[in-house]
Amino acid sequence: MVGTKEDAPMELHFINAALPLKSPTKRYELKASKGVWTYIGEQAEAAAEPAPKRTVKLTEADFTGGAEPVVIDLEGRMLLPGFADMHMHLDKAHSIAKVGNRSGTLLEAIQNYGGMAPQFTKAEIKERIKTTALAALSHGTTYIRTHLDFHLAYGKEIAFRTMEAALEAREELKGKVQVQLFPMLPRGQMGDQELAAAAELMKLGMDGLGGAPHLGETPERQIAQVFELAGRYGKPIDLHADESDDPARRTVVTMAKLTAEYGFGGKVTAGHLCSLAAMPPGEAAEIIGMMAEAGVGAVTLPAANMYLQGRDDTGPFRRGVTRVKELLAAGVPVAAASDNIQDPFHPFGRGDLVQIGLLTAYAAHMGAADDMHTLLRMITEIPAALMGLAQYGTEEGAKANFVIVDAQHAAQLFIQESPSRWVAVHGRWVSVSALHRWNAPEA
Ligand SMILES: [Zn+2]
Repeated sequence: MVGTKEDAPMELHFINAALPLKSPTKRYELKASKGVWTYIGEQAEAAAEPAPKRTVKLTEADFTGGAEPVVIDLEGRMLLPGFADMHMHLDKAHSIAKVGNRSGTLLEAIQNYGGMAPQFTKAEIKERIKTTALAALSHGTTYIRTHLDFHLAYGKEIAFRTMEAALEAREELKGKVQVQLFPMLPRGQMGDQELAAAAELMKLGMDGLGGAPHLGETPERQIAQVFELAGRYGKPIDLHADESDDPARRTVVTMAKLTAEYGFGGKVTAGHLCSLAAMPPGEAAEIIGMMAEAGVGAVTLPAANMYLQGRDDTGPFRRGVTRVKELLAAGVPVAAASDNIQDPFHPFGRGDLVQIGLLTAYAAHMGAADDMHTLLRMITEIPAALMGLAQYGTEEGAKANFVIVDAQHAAQLFIQESPSRWVAVHGRWVSVSALHRWNAPEA
């Protein structure tokens, strides 16, 4: 669907935009043409625009693409690059009504979902992926990395069903959400059959290698196999790492060592790292130092971790969220992401990274002005870099993928969470949610 009038990128022209990743106080004028930012300058500078255009408020703009060219006045609202949610499970999202989890524990979630896996049809999985991705888009997420279950124990047909659903969904979501697919390789040391399946996955067009080695019996061996495959196929690695309250779970150490050995710095990501929070600070610092040196990135998943971890504690209750501030201070890039949404692993969530930013703020004690700026980076620039996204950001020459929020600065965004969002991909409006508020007149 390229070239039709509805799908053609609009010529966009904004004034009075706040760009908090550039400056907390300045206002900017921006222009996009053919889906790419062509001009970004401080508001005080005269715009290079000879023909006068009508100026309209954002709330009065026509998003259908049929109107005459206008200047849209953002009235100080923040314009952020499209959010990047780099750890989701789109294939499982919204399955809670079917699967359930009475205890609420990670163990029961894994058992229940695994037990149901053969019953989900390809159409059903695809529908869940698309619905969840489009919900995330409505909140401003234009880039997603999803981990995918790969239940080879039930046979190839069932395992590849999810992959086929995901490949089709990725294609159908093009132009709206850019999706990266990371299959979770079978746990434990992989035999010939598993390795052949992994090779097949790479040939099918998966974007990288995932898994949860800490749940298997020989995590070191499996991690070594994942690195070997990544080297062979030239793919990045993103593993669930040490999603446990047990301070002795340290698979990230093996990841850091192999990252250094293979020279894969910047191409390896470790999600969760809950046990890092459970171990003594000196031991954690040593591991964090190894990650920083090797170039291993981190993803914190505060919603799922706060819900699932600390279940065996009788008090004080651990929250399971990794050492976000210590990782950042050591120079490890840390993204914040959604993880599971309304499935047996986590009954809440809506795919809104502003909510995840707020939860990160609570869990990691990040409420100072600098912290809030960091939180914005943890849902935009940092995951974008870890995901290897090209032409990302609000820069001339970058793709005009953005979300406008109804907040003038970061604190206002995290306080009110901006129910209104205006989202565009490649210069084309794709989703607008605008809060309608009515107040009774004075009696
Ligand atoms: Zn996960």
